[in-house]
Amino acid sequence: MRIVLLGAPGSGKGTQAKLLIEKYKIPQISTGDLLRAAVAAGTELGKKAKAAMDSGQLVADDVVLGMIQERLATPDSKGGFILDGFPRNIPQAQTLDAMLARVGQPLQLALLVDVDIEVLMKRLTGRRTCGSCGAIYNVYYTPTKVPGKCDKCGGSLQHRSDDNETTVRNRLKVYEEQTAPLVSYYKAQGKLRTARGVGSISDIFKSISDIIEAQMRPLAAAGVAVSAAASAGQARAASARGAAPAAAKKALKKAAKKVAKKAAPKKAAKKVAKKAAPKKAAKKVAKKAAPKKAAKKVAKKAAKAKK
Ligand code: AMP
Repeated sequence: MRIVLLGAPGSGKGTQAKLLIEKYKIPQISTGDLLRAAVAAGTELGKKAKAAMDSGQLVADDVVLGMIQERLATPDSKGGFILDGFPRNIPQAQTLDAMLARVGQPLQLALLVDVDIEVLMKRLTGRRTCGSCGAIYNVYYTPTKVPGKCDKCGGSLQHRSDDNETTVRNRLKVYEEQTAPLVSYYKAQGKLRTARGVGSISDIFKSISDIIEAQMRPLAAAGVAVSAAASAGQARAASARGAAPAAAKKALKKAAKKVAKKAAPKKAAKKVAKKAAPKKAAKKVAKKAAPKKAAKKVAKKAAKAKK
């Protein structure tokens, strides 16, 4: 499963990505997290990124793209990934498409977590994180009992350096100007789906999961159809080579059944059940007939004894 999570800063896509990695066992790749780690470690890349991050601007494309290319090449990304915070503009999206096309693993879904701008402002400027245990609060929506102190461990609450009002306004402006055009970009590719990002975390997660399942089902069925079509092709080729027509017919039937089963598993299950039914019915009849049989045996024995 290869997914891009789209959404403005504060839309909650990071929280949702964490729940998705639990459910689908694929890594979340967040360029924001990677960049913050580089800044904290004081690497060259971190030093380059810090100024842009602190002012709410985007970090240069070449820095981010180099980082993503490295991350996507690691073995744990091979089975799929959830990209969070990347791509952030059209050139990044185009480079990502090209990277994935080279390995024959195109993106399958771009999921937009949609939240109104006023809510985003409050979510971002009100966000506080416990410096000791990492618990997240919001002074507007989920305040602590004692201001500035974590309810869970009593640790001091911190305000992310890019969550102040000026930087937040900048980040939202940058989102509108540079990232929001990705909505049309992925819509044109037929890959865009939207979930409302308001309400409880679990409700949002449910609608996101539903979208993912709905999107992946036909893709999986199409995969089977392709492999079935390939088997059918092989069967036709075999028949053209002069193989026994019965064998070719059998292969074609098998391929068609494979597609039908995947497309309608319930129907297929019913069919199997129906096929099994006559046997069941026969057993029932046999059971019902058994006492009569037994009675007949007894009568026969009795007659013999009389003789
Ligand atoms: P985030 O945690 O995703 O909100 O990212 C925090 C900051 O990191 C952003 O405001 C940008 O400065 C920078 N950043 C994260 N991802 C990217 C990206 N794909 N391209 C450019 N800058 C990024």
